[in-house]
Amino acid sequence: MTAASAAASPHLMNTYARLPVAMVRGQGCRLWDAEGNSYLDGLGGIAVNTLGHAHPRLVAALQEQVATLIHCCNYYHAPDAEKLAQKLTELAGMTNVFFCCTGLEANEAALKLARKYGHDKGIAKPQIVVYEKAFHGRSIATLSATGNAKVQQGFEPLVEGFIRVPLNDIEALQKATAGNPDVVAVFFETIQGEGGINQMRIDYLRQVRALCNERGWLLMIDEVQCGMGRTGKWFAHQWAGIVPDVMPLAKGLGSGVPIGAVVAGPKAAGIFQPGNHGTTFGGNPLAMRAGVETIRIMEEEGLLENAAKVGAHLKEALQQALGGNPGVKEVRGQGLMLGIELVKPCGALTERALKAGLLISVTADCVVRLVPPLILTVAEADQIVAILAPLIEAFLKE
Ligand SMILES: *Cc1c(COP(=O)(O)O)cnc(C)c1O
Repeated sequence: MTAASAAASPHLMNTYARLPVAMVRGQGCRLWDAEGNSYLDGLGGIAVNTLGHAHPRLVAALQEQVATLIHCCNYYHAPDAEKLAQKLTELAGMTNVFFCCTGLEANEAALKLARKYGHDKGIAKPQIVVYEKAFHGRSIATLSATGNAKVQQGFEPLVEGFIRVPLNDIEALQKATAGNPDVVAVFFETIQGEGGINQMRIDYLRQVRALCNERGWLLMIDEVQCGMGRTGKWFAHQWAGIVPDVMPLAKGLGSGVPIGAVVAGPKAAGIFQPGNHGTTFGGNPLAMRAGVETIRIMEEEGLLENAAKVGAHLKEALQQALGGNPGVKEVRGQGLMLGIELVKPCGALTERALKAGLLISVTADCVVRLVPPLILTVAEADQIVAILAPLIEAFLKE
């Protein structure tokens, strides 16, 4: 694992500070590098590998699909696209879906929906409420919606039409939008991922839903990271018993196959007409099969219940191991989307954890993030704690 040469990539653009290791194989919640070392996967490809690695049923379905039809294009109907859309709308209590390939594309489509919703009502310069610390992607529009100067710097001018507010503060939202007839939508993550595992409170979610109803705004909830069963419900906002008008999805939806989706309810489902939006790869048969099979396997293996149960166990074990440490501000999150906030920047922990055989990430400078596959067992959760807690303790003593 020490040989950086095995993992060097001199011909790739320098967009990621990669760790000196190349992953070549996976099985369940384990990965192996090119030199045969194995790692426990606490990161799940950043909340993507819902079913872990090389899930036998997903592998068989995808192999069959590859040998049957990978792509044909949106000039024709695709049976699995209708099947997946039907399933997603049923799970979400919504009505229609647009398919794309990534999270930023799903969010870009949501932003376009909101703007056209405004234009259809005669609002020439529609405005969308977004949040501090939000992350919505790295296209020009989605980085403009993102609440992180580091993501935006160097890419100005930003897209206009955003109003930014703090989390969980209904008065701030009311004040920022008071008397403004151009507001068309409120857009946030139920649990901010890149922003440091920051949850919208249940009462706040309900208050915003009510406000959107009252004002005729679209409630748009980015469930790209916190959705698809990760918190123990299909979508994290469902803990509040609300239904959004627009819901972008991606990451875990295809268990590793690139896929994105925007799910819409009655207020938003009819906004796009032919010619308004599209993407070549969206709804392709391979990705659609991955989505259909991921959901089928999640249901048959009870992975929502597993995420809730193993997530609660992991959170409690982390709290027990680290809770008394004054260097640990908080262990937070829900299901298998957890963050451990330390009192100081802790980016160095990713490489130390790697060397100790555990994959994690650090986000918002001070937050260790765990978003493992939803098949994680209690024993694997205990292994994560056994590796991670001593590393954090030693780090905090430095
Ligand atoms: C990762 C992420 C995105 C961007 O998804 P990409 O597939 O990387 O474009 C958008 N929103 C949230 C909440 C995310 O976590």
